[in-house]
Amino acid sequence: MPDLCAKCNKEIGKQQGYEYQDKLVCEDCYMDVLSPPKACDPWAVHSAQTFLKGKDKLSTLTPLQSKIVNYIKEKGEAPIEEIMTNLNLTEEEFRREFAPLRHMEVLRATKKDGKILYLLF
Ligand SMILES: [Zn+2]
Repeated sequence: MPDLCAKCNKEIGKQQGYEYQDKLVCEDCYMDVLSPPKACDPWAVHSAQTFLKGKDKLSTLTPLQSKIVNYIKEKGEAPIEEIMTNLNLTEEEFRREFAPLRHMEVLRATKKDGKILYLLF
């Protein structure tokens, strides 16, 4: 008798199934219960799902984030003042975009001669 996923009833072998709360579920449903979508943070959900599918993390960037990444890629490294001037951003806007980029390990900051420089991770 085949094992069925407790959530979606898909046929699964014992080897491919995952135990979740004493029930056997398929891989898709297991991933679902591990990372339930949060309506309040669609960006995080989007990037988490993209990560699970193993896609290039750069493809999840917003146009503004891509602009920042491309600028820093071109320069090698850049201080915040230069990035703000060239991309026409306020410091607050830049920091808001930098946080997820740092989190995704796309960009990082480093201190050189007492100055903070931003560069690719
Ligand atoms: Zn399932």
